[in-house]
Amino acid sequence: MTDLAETQSRIGQERANRLAIDGGTPVRNEPLPWELPGAHWIGEEERELVDRVVRARSPFRFYGPDPQHMVETFEREWCAAFGHRHALAVSSGTAALTIALSALGVGPGDEVFVPGYLWVSCLSAVVRVGAIPRLVDIDATFCIDPEDLKRKIGPHSRAVLCVHMSGVPGRIAEIAAICREHGLGLVEDCAQAAGASVDGRAVGRFGDIGIFSFQLNKNMTSGDGGLIVAEDPALFRRMVALHDLGYPRNDKGRLDASDEACQLWGMGARMSELAGAMALAQMRKLPRITAAMRGSKWRIRERLADLRGIEFRHVLDPAGDTGPFLLMLLPDGELARRFVDALRAEGIAGPPGSLACITMREWGMHWYFNIPSLVQRRSNSRDGFPWSHPANAFAAGYDYDIGALPRCDEYHERGALLAIGSTLSEADEDDIVTAFRKVASRLLA
Ligand SMILES: *Cc1c(COP(=O)(O)O)cnc(C)c1O
Repeated sequence: MTDLAETQSRIGQERANRLAIDGGTPVRNEPLPWELPGAHWIGEEERELVDRVVRARSPFRFYGPDPQHMVETFEREWCAAFGHRHALAVSSGTAALTIALSALGVGPGDEVFVPGYLWVSCLSAVVRVGAIPRLVDIDATFCIDPEDLKRKIGPHSRAVLCVHMSGVPGRIAEIAAICREHGLGLVEDCAQAAGASVDGRAVGRFGDIGIFSFQLNKNMTSGDGGLIVAEDPALFRRMVALHDLGYPRNDKGRLDASDEACQLWGMGARMSELAGAMALAQMRKLPRITAAMRGSKWRIRERLADLRGIEFRHVLDPAGDTGPFLLMLLPDGELARRFVDALRAEGIAGPPGSLACITMREWGMHWYFNIPSLVQRRSNSRDGFPWSHPANAFAAGYDYDIGALPRCDEYHERGALLAIGSTLSEADEDDIVTAFRKVASRLLA
């Protein structure tokens, strides 16, 4: 090599070694794919089923000129795939949660346990049925800590909402045992974990009711949509009435108010045949979508296992992980921020608008104290319901502000997440690993 070539190569090497955030060459220049797992897989299959509904001019599930039974087929195939007895498709995960709590008869005078790492829908469901959310801390699974749950059970405790966050089930078998022992209802929020399982048992089969969401960010999507699963036929019948107009339907699909035991107030949350067609096509791809994310996530995780200063989330059963997120903890909040900033500068980021690589402090209403309606005890009505309801006076001293749950507060402070796309290539995985190792060698050494 000539002197000049040698100098140039040395400078190039130095640039590549220097962090991109300090002016070095980034590991990659292309954005990572969008994190929306099901969206990448939308194709001819969805189009074909949606077309059938359109051609038949029958977008309503219960009757019409030529119903294609998309929603019904979706429910039946879901039960067959995951071992549920009953499944009911609905318009959203948020509606599903409210229906579930109503079906259990939860209302004023009751408290429902909810983890502090959650989604805002979990709280709105509790408040809308007139009950009081009681916060429970999380543990290294990023889901409910069974020990904190046990400590907080009291005379008003009525149900537990176990949220399987970020694609991975929580300690659901333990939580189910606690609920049985104390006579508490158990709803599993599987909105972020469609296709997940623990020791071969699908999420949603441990509690009384399981709910799913098919909003765009979830493992599979119909744009909007949700699903409720249950074992108990009487409970399920109540949910069928609740998701509709408050009454069951007869075999012609018409409302039937004759059963005095099932005259309720409905939510208006039916799934249309168009959403049903999308959901059916997507669920047939769900095993491939989750296998892709799980594969990428665990290959990346294993290649980073020796890095000091990064702790990964505890996963009880990696085979039942659906893989959409890699959650991690850095030594402190300042390092978490610098680590994520440096990763993004290396090109470990999604397209504009994506939240592919962020600190937990950028994760908004996934943390209890970031939800203003909770912290300020907001009401939809002028009388302050349900906070003002006399039967809820027991909850006057409950605290929803930061400081209420030490483990949540700590994970929020020093946590970070990387969304794992459902279409990552080998080269994408290599870049992620290279960038993590490069940044860790400078910031965490
Ligand atoms: C997305 C989500 C919901 C709500 O689902 P929507 O279909 O958007 O109403 C509920 N719970 C959790 C944990 C979620 O992530």
